[in-house]
Amino acid sequence: MLRIDDKLCIGCGICEDACPFGAIEVVDGIAVAGDTCTLCGACVEVCEVEALAIEGAAENTIQQDLDSWKGVWVFCEFTGGKLAPVATELLGIGRTLADDRKVPLTAILLGHMTGDSGDLLIGHGADRVFRVDNPALELFSDEIYEKILSELIVEHKPEVVLAGATAIGRSFIPGVATRVNAGLTADCTRLQIREEDGVLLQTRPAFGGNIMATIICPNTRPQMATVRPKVMRALEFDGSRRGEIIDIVPAPHHLTSRIEVLESASDKQAKVNIQESDILVSGGRGLENEAGFELIGRLAEALGGKVSASRAVVDAGWIPYPHQVGQTGKTVAPKLYVACGISGAIQHVAGMQSSETIVAINRDPDAPIFNIADFGIVGDLYEIIPKLIDKLEEKRGI
Ligand SMILES: Cc1cc2nc3c(=O)[nH]c(=O)nc-3n(C[C@H](O)[C@H](O)[C@H](O)COP(=O)(O)OP(=O)(O)OC[C@H]3O[C@@H](n4cnc5c(N)ncnc54)[C@H](O)[C@@H]3O)c2cc1C
Repeated sequence: MLRIDDKLCIGCGICEDACPFGAIEVVDGIAVAGDTCTLCGACVEVCEVEALAIEGAAENTIQQDLDSWKGVWVFCEFTGGKLAPVATELLGIGRTLADDRKVPLTAILLGHMTGDSGDLLIGHGADRVFRVDNPALELFSDEIYEKILSELIVEHKPEVVLAGATAIGRSFIPGVATRVNAGLTADCTRLQIREEDGVLLQTRPAFGGNIMATIICPNTRPQMATVRPKVMRALEFDGSRRGEIIDIVPAPHHLTSRIEVLESASDKQAKVNIQESDILVSGGRGLENEAGFELIGRLAEALGGKVSASRAVVDAGWIPYPHQVGQTGKTVAPKLYVACGISGAIQHVAGMQSSETIVAINRDPDAPIFNIADFGIVGDLYEIIPKLIDKLEEKRGI
């Protein structure tokens, strides 16, 4: 919390001007903090009489033994009887970070009937797998996952812990960070080791995607980050890689929860998984109306892909949310992404710029989407797409 020492405060108002959130006001000659304070520390920095301090701030909790925290860990999500793709994607970046730090890469596998998943994780880059395979882990439980992972962290002291920013990761990783008293950077799009001191640079979009913020946790360990699916690239599976699988038997009280999961049912809309398709044809406001998605669907079918969309058309109710690509939608990285009538706003681009080949169709030659497109077609999509479909069908002899 922000502590204001009323004996030191002179009511000068410098902190009031410096607060980006309008959270401080000078009342009766003393600074007073309101509910909108985010503990950003801007006021503390400018206060000339040192009347302000953030209690519990990192400076006050510097760990003395940072060097004893070693190794990079990746929580490898195992759900529905198989590894989630984000598990191997994170091992890809985990391998780079571990090599830069010259430390081992450990995969954490929690689940039941995990079969050969441990070997798969080694083939995708892990040096070691901590496996907890137990019937109590058949269905995901925040509390049980939190307890097991935080116990392992406290015992083995990794310097970096990564997890997917999936429904499961977003649900329990903040709880783990709280239990182990660590910071957590959510939704990172880039991770790198700072050469001088080995600190993890955690980059993520901020302020509506208008800036990229790089966040560091220099004073405490572990450094924890979640990463959205499809942002990092998995390494090719290498069956000749060797590693160690260590079976962990958790204490019985770590396998109990106050929450009883009665049933797990999947949302029908969630079945639209645009992240798994190699080809996406995406429609934007340039379609002019909901009916335009019929044409987008035909092109997607001709290419053997799926339909995705910009937020503008999801907000307009032309297509449901699971199809949305972008910062507040899904991050995708297909082999081919065809953007039809999409301007290329930064928040959209944030979700598809890793696509292997980007084709843009837009009638505005200055549309920003052309800055990232590999192939651009300037013109009316209602003229261009039917011609493309005809050509594709001609090729397939339809
Ligand atoms: C916090 C925040 C989060 C956001 N998250 C997302 C997100 O996750 N995903 C997302 O997509 N957006 C997101 N947005 C919104 C984003 O800023 C844009 O408003 C949105 O992407 C615009 O969608 P669009 O490109 O379909 O529409 P527009 O920007 O209106 O572009 C329409 C394009 O269609 C072209 N066009 C028009 N008619 C035709 C035609 N007949 N033939 C060919 N081209 C044509 C136009 O030239 C124009 O370039 C977010 C915004 C904010 C503030």
